Amino acid sequence: SPAIVWFRRDLRVHDQPTLLEAAEHSSRALALFVLDPALLDPSGPARRTFLYRCLRALDEALGGRLLVVRGDPADVVPRVATAVGAGSVHVAADFGPYGRGRDEAVEKALGDVQLVRTGSPYAVAPGRITKSDGDPYKVFTPFSRQWTQHGWRAPADTDASTLTWIDPAEKSSGSGPSGPQAVRIPDDEPVDAELPAAGEQAAREQWEAFVDEHLADYDELRNRPDRPATSRMSVHLKYGTVHPRTLLADLTGTGTGPTSYRNELCFRDFYAQVLWFFPESARKNFDTKFDRITLDTGKQAYEKFERWQEGRTGYPAIDAAMRQLRGEGWMHNRMRMAVASFLVKDLHLPWWWGAKHFMTLLVDGDLPSNQHGWQWAAGSGTDAAPYFRVFNPVTQGERFDPQGEYVRRWVPELADVEGLAGKKIHQPWKLSNPPESYPGPMVDHKTERTYTKASRNDRVPAR
Ligand code: FAD
Repeated sequence: SPAIVWFRRDLRVHDQPTLLEAAEHSSRALALFVLDPALLDPSGPARRTFLYRCLRALDEALGGRLLVVRGDPADVVPRVATAVGAGSVHVAADFGPYGRGRDEAVEKALGDVQLVRTGSPYAVAPGRITKSDGDPYKVFTPFSRQWTQHGWRAPADTDASTLTWIDPAEKSSGSGPSGPQAVRIPDDEPVDAELPAAGEQAAREQWEAFVDEHLADYDELRNRPDRPATSRMSVHLKYGTVHPRTLLADLTGTGTGPTSYRNELCFRDFYAQVLWFFPESARKNFDTKFDRITLDTGKQAYEKFERWQEGRTGYPAIDAAMRQLRGEGWMHNRMRMAVASFLVKDLHLPWWWGAKHFMTLLVDGDLPSNQHGWQWAAGSGTDAAPYFRVFNPVTQGERFDPQGEYVRRWVPELADVEGLAGKKIHQPWKLSNPPESYPGPMVDHKTERTYTKASRNDRVPAR
């Protein structure tokens, strides 16, 4: 009986251990993708469109043999299995809260057909590294030491020819029950953002260009949003058009570039394992001390939130970043930290409002990195730095966008204003005649910072 390879967030054929495991069960396999409304509906059009493009690339790599169906996987996967008479269903394990529950439900519904989990989207799967007493690590540095010691496998030697792919049209010709209806990969949706190229080939090209041109300077320039200094591999890692193993295999050097890049990949694994052990941290403060901090809610809070979303806070670096998020479906890491700090520390709004907005617009939106990136900025997460660390939106801009090029790219109202040369662009309100088309600062940073700092231990001053 044939095997089913159910692709989810591993939309590639190279370095794909699931294919090797499926080949152990059967040389013939059906490639399946399920369009699951529970995941697609909350995603914005940019994320959905990028996914569809990844699926088209995968389908092409499989010679047009990807079966796409729509519905609840616990319903449709067993029906596909019955229709093709599959003996096993193969997946890469999913460690997210939703994926775990879904896979348990599918496993149950499959009955005698085995759901075989092979590999994970991580260099080291969540749960593999624990303290010697079995407790999970809650602090990054000791985790990263263990992670490096543990190491990871070499890339798996696979490609589309590892299995013989069944033509999905074939299954309905038999006399068995017909499976769920095959659907076309949906068309692109209208998207404002300029999306990166999708698919395995694009991931490989993007990576090779980064290694050639920017890896050596990565550590020095990775905080500069005005430079093309980071790899932009996050979207590819999100959809599994590349596996981190493939990248790590190229990062053999001991220079600062490869070392620093490995460290960032370790952060990705670290947050995945935190969420694996503490799934409730997707919604709640990881550090419950933070529950006592006063937050603004209500109508006025929502107006503030909207100005932040639109990139009209009056702080140019913050606004540039919020517009980059819309414009590219991506934001530079330094600016993710800065806008998150601004939302929580200057506007006193809940981090999970910001996290949700990010998850809708970010093409690389990924629950563990996003929720814990937000909790890092809020100070409620795993990081040892206290929640009263407050980023200054002006000095962040001056330090990391010293010529103001990033702001000029995304905030055209300020691009050609006389008197805003170089880093002066970060404080347009200092002009005697500031441009009318750009708002003044919506809050006074110094005042809000004082409020935030004092709000610890419930000592919240009146404003
Ligand atoms: P590079 O600098 O080239 O880094 C290489 C890879 O390392 C990234 O692709 C990513 O996989 C990993 N990485 C780098 N920094 C981090 C980090 N801080 N945490 C975890 N992994 C990291 N990353 C996401 O992939 N999805 C998200 O939804 C996401 N949301 C974030 C929200 C906030 C508030 C913050 C502060 C960070 C968030 N990050 C998220 C982490 C980081 O900003 C992005 O991974 C990075 O900007 C992606 O660009 P890049 O691939 O060019 O990064």
